[in-house]
Order: sequence, then C-alpha cells, then structure tokens
Amino acid sequence: MTVLPVAQIAERIHKIRHSLPATVRLIAVSKKMPSTAIRAAYGAGIRDFGESQVQEARIKQAELADLSDITWHLIGHLQSNKVRKSVHQFQWVHSVDSCKLAQRLDQYAAESTHVLNCCIQVKLRPDPSKSGFSVETLWAALPQLGELRHLNICGLMVIPPWGLQTTETQMIFAEAKALLDQINHCEISRLRLTELSMGMSSDYSLAIAAGSTMVRLGTILFGDRDRKHPTDLSSNV
Ligand SMILES: *Cc1c(COP(=O)(O)O)cnc(C)c1O
Repeated sequence: MTVLPVAQIAERIHKIRHSLPATVRLIAVSKKMPSTAIRAAYGAGIRDFGESQVQEARIKQAELADLSDITWHLIGHLQSNKVRKSVHQFQWVHSVDSCKLAQRLDQYAAESTHVLNCCIQVKLRPDPSKSGFSVETLWAALPQLGELRHLNICGLMVIPPWGLQTTETQMIFAEAKALLDQINHCEISRLRLTELSMGMSSDYSLAIAAGSTMVRLGTILFGDRDRKHPTDLSSNV
C-alpha cells in the first residue's frame, strides 16, 4: 500500500472540507492506513477518525497516544468478544447491528467513564455481505433499545450496496432520512435520533443532499487502500 505524501493528504482534506456544509461532520476513515497518515490528517485539522477493526485501531491508538483530542469512531462489525475493549477505545460505534450487541455495549458502557455514542446500522436493501437491522427488525427492537441507559443511541448508519445506480443510491439515502424522521415521531420509541451517518467517497454528495450529518471518507482523503476486491468495504476489513 502506498501512503500519500503529507502535503497531498492535507490538500485533499482542505478541498473536501471547503465543500462540506458546516453541519456535516467529516470522519476520516483511516482503516488500513498507517498512523503516519492519521498524523498527516490530524495536522490538517481532522479530529474524527473511523476504523473498522478494534485490533487494528488499538495499535494505531497506541502510536498516536500524544494526540489526545482525537475522537475515534468504530465503523465496522463488532464481534462480541471485542465489545469490552471497544467501549474503552472508541467514543462512537456506528455499527450497532443487533439488539444483542447493543445490550452488551450498554453493559460495558455502564463501567466506563465516557459516554458511548451509537448509531444503529440499518440495511435498507438485502445485502448478504453486510450486517445490520432490517427496517422490520429495527422497529421491533426500538422499545428495547430505548431502555439502554448507558448508551447514547443518537443516529442511524446506512451503507448502500456496492455498485448501484445514482438514482437507486439517492432513493436509499432518502429512505434513511424518512426512517429517522419516523422514528423520532413515533410514540413507541424513546430514541431521539439526530445523526445520519451516511456517505462514503463515491456517494457523499448524494448523502449530504439527503440530510447526512456524518460522512465517512477514506479513499478520497488518503488514496487507495490497495483493494483486493471492490467489496472490501462491505466486509468491513
Ligand atoms: C471503508 C469504509 C468507509 C470509507 O470508504 P471510502 O470509499 O474509502 O470512502 C466508510 N464507511 C465504512 C463503514 C467503511 O467500511
């Protein structure tokens, strides 16, 4: 994997930042990138970083311990045996993809000193390569999710399936926004969701147009991750 020069990462970041509305939080997805790339982005003003794997993140977090004001976002599927560690390593988990995971996170968050912000990952189209709630299972889970006292469940994360037409992607983002609004207006749910975590390098403009509040950008900031397969995103490697 080739890491772009510091100046080039900085230039990409400045460009993207200028194009984003002030209300949209830019999360730099640094999975598969070395800590030197994260340092470069930090130097260009980024404070939010997204990682897919707990173990990989831990190594980089240790190398970057001097950058104490970074907010770390977990954006990949979380295995149950890594829940405890993740609660200490991350301030955000975007990939809450089951009720069981939410309950485990809540259990460990109770012992933690910081608030754990969570987004619920929703799958708006069938996609065997991804985890997440279907719309139906999410509605069924809302009462239980609303009971969790130690999590700040404040948003939805949506990842469209790979390779869709623009109009299909737009439709999915619009559905995500509509779902968020419905949840916020419904009586059975105590959740009040303000965040829509959607938009990656190839589709973030569409996501923002549909109401995204957090974009997760990797490639467009750091360059190619040396993909073996275009779906490496979905398996959250
Ligand atoms: C890898 C990844 C991203 C970033 O994707 P790019 O196309 O490189 O911007 C965003 N979100 C999730 C969940 C990812 O796994």
